Amino acid sequence: MSLPLKELIKIGIRQLQDAGIGDYERDAKELYCFLDKLDSVGLMMHWQDVLQDNQCEAYFKLIERRAAGEPLQYITGTQEFMGFSFNVNPSVLIPRQDTETMVEDAVELLTKGTLRGEEYAKASDFKEVLDLCCGSGAIGVSIAKLCGKVKVTCSDISEEAVKTAKQNGLDNGCKSVKFEKSDLFDAFCGKLSKKKFDFIISNPPYIEREVIPTLQREVKDHEPIMALDGGMDGLDFYRRIAEDAPAHLHKNGVLMLEIGYNQNEAVTSLLEETEKFCNIMCLKDLAGKDRIVIAKLKGKK
Ligand code: GLN
Repeated sequence: MSLPLKELIKIGIRQLQDAGIGDYERDAKELYCFLDKLDSVGLMMHWQDVLQDNQCEAYFKLIERRAAGEPLQYITGTQEFMGFSFNVNPSVLIPRQDTETMVEDAVELLTKGTLRGEEYAKASDFKEVLDLCCGSGAIGVSIAKLCGKVKVTCSDISEEAVKTAKQNGLDNGCKSVKFEKSDLFDAFCGKLSKKKFDFIISNPPYIEREVIPTLQREVKDHEPIMALDGGMDGLDFYRRIAEDAPAHLHKNGVLMLEIGYNQNEAVTSLLEETEKFCNIMCLKDLAGKDRIVIAKLKGKK
């Protein structure tokens, strides 16, 4: 079965559409680009080519995987984030656009001391940054790329995630970023003292356990549950972070958390209850939903 490329892609599009894939046209084209190592311009240039059997077969295998619900990014092994390319695999969450919003806020804060134009902190205070629950390292590596002076550490409980993050650091030319396997702050607790940072950013697992089976099949069947499951009420990690982060922040250090659209009140209360944070604020994502909670460690009285 040799087919012209444009016919092949037409069939791919139809198969993904029939399988209920949202962005069927983009995915059908991207899978071919991935297979033949083309960009979208290259795809157009080869549009009239007649393909060999084996190329058609290889393409339909990829289409089949996507039609069965495997995320495009796990098939191609990459996702763009903040304009950089990140390796992804089923041991890490695929970086989301909502998280880019948080990283944009973080970069503004770290480089200018402002948050969406309002004074929040002193930029020169930020020297050491921790990306806690880093997954692919998308947050920490992007911050290292975009904020020249800060020293970034990325940590995750999953060894596979740390391996992926490390590779992403290397592939993006960030030699100075450190990577640690750590259950939250465990690796940063020495016998005598705790390692402290000026800025801790985290996108921890925050989905309520019973909501997970209702998520899109791409997410619930393919993304790492351990990166999604925030316990019964979705707040397990925020509880632990609220409790432990103060000991790992320098005076006036800042904590920035990605949250679910309905978690602002709960996460804000958890931080308030510690009585260790001030300037607690919530920022919204591009869809206008609550997405980020930020807080500053109180200075000593
Ligand atoms: N935002 C992700 C989702 O919608 C969840 C991320 C997380 O739990 N940290 O699937």
